[in-house]
Amino acid sequence: MGVGKVVKFERPSLRERAKGRTLCARGFHRWQIDKAKQFDVKRGQLVTTRRCTRCGTTKTTLT
Ligand SMILES: [Zn+2]
Repeated sequence: MGVGKVVKFERPSLRERAKGRTLCARGFHRWQIDKAKQFDVKRGQLVTTRRCTRCGTTKTTLT
């Protein structure tokens, strides 16, 4: 009798996501330019919107 194995449910993808979250929490986001939002109507200016592919945070900068 006895439990011989410790079954690990953690998959590489989960580890990668956990690692990504850690990076995001530290401010290292994986920015991707969102081409659909390149004009800020409120400001009336062209802007570059970046969206983190991991956590979804967006950042807008003036073009
Ligand atoms: Zn992020």
